[in-house]
Amino acid sequence: MFFPLTVRDFLDRAVTVYPERIGVVDEPDQPAPSWGEVTYAELGRRARSQAAYLDDLGVPQGARVAIVSQNSARLLASFFGVSGWGRILVPINFRLAPAEIAYIVEHSGAEVLMVDPEIRGLLDSVTAEHTFVLGEDDEAMWATRGEPEPWEGDESATATINYTSGTTARPKGVQLTHRNLWTNASIFGWQTSISDRDVYLHTLPMFHANGWGMPYAVTGMGGRHVVIRKIDGAEILRRVERHGVTVMCAAPAVVQAVLDAAKTWDGEIPGRDRVRIIVAGAPPPTRTIERVRGELGWEFIQIYGLTETAPLLTMSRMREEWDDLEPLEQARLLGRAGAPAVGVRVMIDDTGEVLAQSNHNLEAYWDNPESTAVALADGWFHTGDGGTIEDGHLVIADRKKDVIISGGENVTSIEVEDALMLHPAVREVAVIGIPDEKWGELVTALVVLDPDAGEVGEGDLIAHTRQHLAGYKCPKRIEFREELARTATGKLQKFKLRAPYWEGQQRQVH
Ligand code: AMP
Repeated sequence: MFFPLTVRDFLDRAVTVYPERIGVVDEPDQPAPSWGEVTYAELGRRARSQAAYLDDLGVPQGARVAIVSQNSARLLASFFGVSGWGRILVPINFRLAPAEIAYIVEHSGAEVLMVDPEIRGLLDSVTAEHTFVLGEDDEAMWATRGEPEPWEGDESATATINYTSGTTARPKGVQLTHRNLWTNASIFGWQTSISDRDVYLHTLPMFHANGWGMPYAVTGMGGRHVVIRKIDGAEILRRVERHGVTVMCAAPAVVQAVLDAAKTWDGEIPGRDRVRIIVAGAPPPTRTIERVRGELGWEFIQIYGLTETAPLLTMSRMREEWDDLEPLEQARLLGRAGAPAVGVRVMIDDTGEVLAQSNHNLEAYWDNPESTAVALADGWFHTGDGGTIEDGHLVIADRKKDVIISGGENVTSIEVEDALMLHPAVREVAVIGIPDEKWGELVTALVVLDPDAGEVGEGDLIAHTRQHLAGYKCPKRIEFREELARTATGKLQKFKLRAPYWEGQQRQVH
């Protein structure tokens, strides 16, 4: 018997098995009225109501519904209310500049656009057929209404499109199907032991690869979601204490923030021997892993993957065979990206690039057949990361693609270079990442000025990029040069430009 896998399965199970249980604790400090505590029965009702409301608006199945929001219960509900009845959710990074968001809304062809009240100004320049400010004019969307139009379910249908800064100047829309999300969430949830006793803290932005799939996995098991909006180390510890949090996902920069806050925490660190923290986005330093285990007493799990792979490809988690090793050696082993998850195949090609096959690799890039063909050439997904396999475990050693990962978010060098080139005083520019304690990698621009440019300083150029790019993409450091290393054909030699900053580093990614 064939029965389509759809993301609504996760919600339906929670509503059936745990209707009275508090499924979601919304952020109390929202600019929109907080939903407070919501049972799974109520979450299911609100998701159905959203779907029925979209029916009434005449938004058909297959239509795109964009949402730009910090973490919130409304965003969590939309993962089900939109995709669960055959429409496509486009969760957009709220940190992007209005011009970047406008591009995504237009490229995805979104008919509906929902925005967080804090960024309502966006609606002055970005528009769609139906627009809403969350918590203000969307009340009717969540109010009790009739049943939505039935959707028979199709696991090959696209459930979400997640725009990611990849190797091109413009972001690409990663098309993930219900089957992609279902297999990722189930395998991820299984391998991190998600159960009905889990309390999941949303330290990861939900827009980023759909909160890596935890919104689905935790719901399916009937665990509790605790929504957190602003990421702050001490606040994370307070929420862990207050809500009995057991599991969270985070980029290494967030882990660092928690470790910093722990230094001045009064009393015992909450969650000792209870919390599992799942880290990805960049290779975490061995010392950080040791400190998570030693100073916080939390279990450390690492995963590796990309938005394009929904994202789970490999996982590093303690195993029995390592029990008697020294903590430092255990941390070193956990510092590898890990072994392939169930159903994932990983190999390294002749050039050292990591290739992957799995049931949760993207269907395609939305409306971009050229990039799709390149990424999926020969039936393998090309990650753009360089790696080796050590004892069955993948180690990410460098990056083939021209992408900088700063604070867990991707920044494409080309888009920063494009923005800088718009400044009349800039003649040439190369943007590179350099290792940084806090951000992992620091967006750094090497600039050759036009000799007739007059006085132009670092601050002027950074301020200029702020008009075009999200704050986290703007260079944090600018160095002025007489010239930039190029090949005979005029191509920038980024590896040469990067070399002095990366000398002595074990890996070429940080
Ligand atoms: P994104 O699509 O924004 O999630 O970014 C995916 C990229 O993040 C990958 O291609 C890697 O370069 C990087 N990445 C993710 N997880 C890890 C990890 N555990 N170790 C090293 N790099 C990682």
